[in-house]
Amino acid sequence: MHLVMIGGSDAGISAALRARELNPAADVTVVVADAYPNFSICGIPYYISGEVAHWRNLAHRSIADLEAAGMWLRLNTTARRIDVAARKLAVTSATGGEELLGYDKLIVATGAVPARPPIGGLDGPDALGPGDGVHLLHSMGDTFAVMRTLEHAAPASAVIVGAGYIGLEMADALTVRGLAVTQMEQLADVLPTVDPQLGALVRAELQSHGVEVLAGTTVRAITRAAPGQAGKLEVQATAADGTAMTRAADMVLVVTGVRPDTALAAEAGAILGVKSAIAVDPGMRTNLPDVFAAGDCVITHHRLLGQTYLPLGTTAHKQGRVAGENALGGNRQFTGSLGTQVVKIFNQAAARTGLRDHEAAAAGFDPVTVASRADDHKSYYPGSHPIAMRITGDRATGRLLGMQLFGHRNAEIAKRIDIAATAIFNSMTVAAISDLDLSYTPPLGSPWEAVQMGAQAWDREVLRLST
Ligand SMILES: Cc1cc2nc3c(=O)[nH]c(=O)nc-3n(C[C@H](O)[C@H](O)[C@H](O)COP(=O)(O)OP(=O)(O)OC[C@H]3O[C@@H](n4cnc5c(N)ncnc54)[C@H](O)[C@@H]3O)c2cc1C
Repeated sequence: MHLVMIGGSDAGISAALRARELNPAADVTVVVADAYPNFSICGIPYYISGEVAHWRNLAHRSIADLEAAGMWLRLNTTARRIDVAARKLAVTSATGGEELLGYDKLIVATGAVPARPPIGGLDGPDALGPGDGVHLLHSMGDTFAVMRTLEHAAPASAVIVGAGYIGLEMADALTVRGLAVTQMEQLADVLPTVDPQLGALVRAELQSHGVEVLAGTTVRAITRAAPGQAGKLEVQATAADGTAMTRAADMVLVVTGVRPDTALAAEAGAILGVKSAIAVDPGMRTNLPDVFAAGDCVITHHRLLGQTYLPLGTTAHKQGRVAGENALGGNRQFTGSLGTQVVKIFNQAAARTGLRDHEAAAAGFDPVTVASRADDHKSYYPGSHPIAMRITGDRATGRLLGMQLFGHRNAEIAKRIDIAATAIFNSMTVAAISDLDLSYTPPLGSPWEAVQMGAQAWDREVLRLST
């Protein structure tokens, strides 16, 4: 059995590891376009901030670890064409020659590429001249380019275009490095994936660390500043009130989301689905014989919404594992995402899982969303922090549909959202959260865990609405 994976990040490597784990005799080759297999690109902001001392530390596993697991790594090798009928993959090797790799099963894990919004001056690498200081951020190559700008041009200021979770992490990282940061977001507030009430708390945290936040601001162009001006670059935008505005900066980072990298699979005849991601069944099979796909390049099955596109590292790992197992003849299924995610912004964290009110309504539920607050542990023990919660449940069935949390980075926001994710995954009602036997000691919690107090606030509100 010869398996070939295209892509050496979360999905491709998870598939390769699972295949080798299940069948140590399987011949597994991983084709990787760059030289950085199995790097935690989620950790890039913390290398850029300086909190992670060396880029090599971002490797989940070293090349030696991966080879010891029994996979062949073809680094600096780009897959060019899939010949489905002949079960052959054409690649360009590190030395530039073209080669054909035969396979029994192929797993496409080509991931995603950064979105390029229609911004003048963002036409390609160094479009405004060599080392222009304008960056996208997705790969280790992008990371090295950002670090070159930081280390060689010593920028004093940065504009970050986009205030999704990566934009926020980078605002934190560049501020930690001593840059003056302006964050521009086209939508009405930062972190638009949470409700505006929590977005406002995120904005306040950014501002309290000196980040200038310009929401409702659409960036139109990035140009080189005239000699003698404060920054090397000028960012031209339309402000929330429709007026034109500019900001000078020494570097600009554009982080406005990703799109699935599907050209290779599509050219081979793969059917595309939501957001032009590769359509796969729950076993990660494409419509092409012997071709599986996983990770940011595929559609995501959402447990409450059906098919969607929700590129996340956690999902890519799971889908890769399923693909690796099924390529060997298994029958594992990816059981679905809830879009569970968490982000640290300076000293705070914001998290969500499941659906927000408007998403639940659009999906046919009858949602009620209730805001509440509870301390992360008994307030008489030093260091307690309030947690802002927003719980969405279905009025008719009482089912928990979604939760959003915001609180101090030490308030276990990530693990608390995981309680909600587990409950939604198992179709629990909001009321049933109070029945869970959760741990307690005053320095770390309360007899009623914060999330249980939020659930009870939801119950009270629904009772009030019904009487
Ligand atoms: C800065 C940053 C922070 C993030 N933080 C988080 C987080 O905190 N939590 C979270 O869940 N997710 C996070 N993510 C998202 C997460 O990293 C991705 O969802 C995950 O990496 C997807 O993995 P993947 O294997 O599908 O694709 P990718 O990571 O995009 O990797 C694609 C792989 O395919 C290779 N490739 C592509 N085309 C070819 C070709 N033609 N030939 C050969 N090789 C090819 C690439 O070289 C690469 O190895 C973050 C992403 C970024 C950029």
